[in-house]
Amino acid sequence: MRDAIAAVQMSAEGWSPQRVMAWAFETFGNKVAISSAFGAEGMVLIDMASRVRKEFRLFTIDTEFLFPETYSLMDQIERKYEIKIERVLSLLSPEEQERVHGSGLWTRDPDRCCNLRKVEPLRRKLSELDAWITSIRRDQTSFRKSAGKIEWDAKFGLVKVNPIADWTSKQVWRYLHEHGVPYNSLHDQNYPSIGCTHCTRATRPGEDPRAGRWPGAAKTECGLHVIEPLTPFPKADA
Ligand code: SF4
Repeated sequence: MRDAIAAVQMSAEGWSPQRVMAWAFETFGNKVAISSAFGAEGMVLIDMASRVRKEFRLFTIDTEFLFPETYSLMDQIERKYEIKIERVLSLLSPEEQERVHGSGLWTRDPDRCCNLRKVEPLRRKLSELDAWITSIRRDQTSFRKSAGKIEWDAKFGLVKVNPIADWTSKQVWRYLHEHGVPYNSLHDQNYPSIGCTHCTRATRPGEDPRAGRWPGAAKTECGLHVIEPLTPFPKADA
């Protein structure tokens, strides 16, 4: 399997997002799922997937600190696409986290908070899959600029599929408008990138689209998509 996947890795760079997604569904069946936090890019993938395949798996890491607008969009997605979102929670409720780690962990140690509420739940979810589909784009952060459309995710030990890795933000919004896809209403209130309530603010004119994430901290990623430059597939007998 790994050799077969490695063989398509280069060709996939020229494929459309729909073809990349169709390949993932055909190759991995029920062992592949879309991961989404329901940003604009994620909404493109969800809509595309619904046109490629009637039934598909979709999961989200629910930190329990999301905006009401995000929860409302999740309900809307379930109704429109007739799917059940797999919601993955932290092992600690917000109250338990406060008891164990003190209040406002996100202000004192955001990396630890993200590990508890995002990275560990993601690792747990990915352990039941052979591949995951994400909506990352290369021009979003420096960590993402080398993302391939199909790559080996050495951090989590499965195939990672990034169908719109080479898209621009303009293409994303064109797709959403042309196809009448619902999106998070916070995007219309200067929130280009939306995460937890504690760590997201609206951006000001001229700021980087991700400037509203972890404002005041050097942090730009929660750790889910921090990858090494294009990772070759390990040999089948490795
Ligand atoms: S984004 Fe903020 S609140 Fe959410 S898990 Fe990370 S540090 Fe915690």
